[in-house]
Amino acid sequence: MSSNPSIVRYLNPWKARREEREQRIAELRTRDGDACRRCRRPIRFDLPVGHDQGPRIEDVVTLAVGAPRTIGNQCLCHGRCNGVGADHTSEVQERRRRSNEADLFARSRRQA
Ligand SMILES: [Zn+2]
Repeated sequence: MSSNPSIVRYLNPWKARREEREQRIAELRTRDGDACRRCRRPIRFDLPVGHDQGPRIEDVVTLAVGAPRTIGNQCLCHGRCNGVGADHTSEVQERRRRSNEADLFARSRRQA
């Protein structure tokens, strides 16, 4: 039995969205292979959604500037390599916090 996609979307939007995502990932894998577009290392497709080493669909040109949400504007990256999230991982934040602290410390030493 094949159900009407618009009814599925209405009755179970999460399922519809998950299926759309899985289908898009499969299309992108066929086009680009299994490597992350940013770090070129293989993406693991057996992990739960949202995992750092799992796939994330990334927009090549950010949607904020009016780019279309089509496959031509999308690629696959690791969750951790995703452009939007790249500067916000705990690792990067920690590194930035330390360098800020070191900078402040150096400045206060200079003033003293
Ligand atoms: Zn990556």
